[in-house]
Amino acid sequence: MRFTQKQIAAEAERIFARLQHVKWTREDCELIAPLTLEINLLKKEQDALILAHSYQTPDIMYGVADFLGDSYGLSRIASQHPAKKIIFCSVHFMGETAKILSPEKEVLVPTVAGCSLAESITARDVKALRRRHPGAGVVCYVNTSASVKAESDACCTSANVVKIVEAMPQKDIIFIPDKLMGQNMRGMTSKNIILWNGTCIVHDHFTPETVEEVKKLYPGVRVLAHTECEPAVIGKVDMAGSTSQMLDYVSKTDAKTFMLVTECGLSDRVRAENRDKEIVGTCNLCPYMKKIALKDVLTSLKEPSLKQAITIPEGILKRAKRSLDRMFALEREYDAKKGHG
Ligand code: SF4
Repeated sequence: MRFTQKQIAAEAERIFARLQHVKWTREDCELIAPLTLEINLLKKEQDALILAHSYQTPDIMYGVADFLGDSYGLSRIASQHPAKKIIFCSVHFMGETAKILSPEKEVLVPTVAGCSLAESITARDVKALRRRHPGAGVVCYVNTSASVKAESDACCTSANVVKIVEAMPQKDIIFIPDKLMGQNMRGMTSKNIILWNGTCIVHDHFTPETVEEVKKLYPGVRVLAHTECEPAVIGKVDMAGSTSQMLDYVSKTDAKTFMLVTECGLSDRVRAENRDKEIVGTCNLCPYMKKIALKDVLTSLKEPSLKQAITIPEGILKRAKRSLDRMFALEREYDAKKGHG
């Protein structure tokens, strides 16, 4: 598709307004402008919605995405939006979650990318766990495949995990697949938690020493960590939560300097969206999330392959949906009991 020099210059300027804050040059923006122009044009023609997880690269987040967020929040947006086609820039299980909530829509992922957490457990493993712990309830973190969700009693997110586990009727809860999130939850629930040995390779790499060094170097810094980090790290930080809770905390807190103990994309979002805040310290890149490039987004609109389209057998989809629905019911129940529903 050919665009005029004037169109390319205007598009480069639009992208540069945001990307300059994450160190992109005007020349970088000029290079990607024909691509973002074409993607945005096709998106309009096809009545498609582009969703990008906060761990995506800034060119995808600010060049073509309609909404940014975490996996569950974006899946809810997809289900409530009138668009018939969803391009979900994230890893495969997140595309599946969107499809479970919107089975009537065409859901595509630009690249088929895995996830160390989602791949650590299969539906067969869940069945074996149930046999080993008869009578225990099964709660799965949203970072799991559709077939693992289908074998679970209820799903949860990093934001509501404690509520869901507490609201389950059983005393023994098999929590899958994130071992570290399960360990972090242990002190916050009265339930007996049975863990699985999965971890997120991005958050598992942070150590308490990294946090201590940054605190020494930047007195007054607020350190925020994702609950997929190990308990020794969580014990050192000022706030632990989901990606959305971390973003919320940064924007609503007066402090100026932050360290985000998570994937680098979130730091990019803060830099692009909260220009008065400074991000210090290190972050880790997710090799799965970073597999997705703008050219893949274009392919998913222009000539989508079978691999890019999310399909889930009907029986699995229905049972996985039941796990997600149970999550809402349990959360409502918990809030009602605590008097904030
Ligand atoms: S950041 Fe961790 S949990 Fe998220 S996709 Fe990457 S490996 Fe999976």
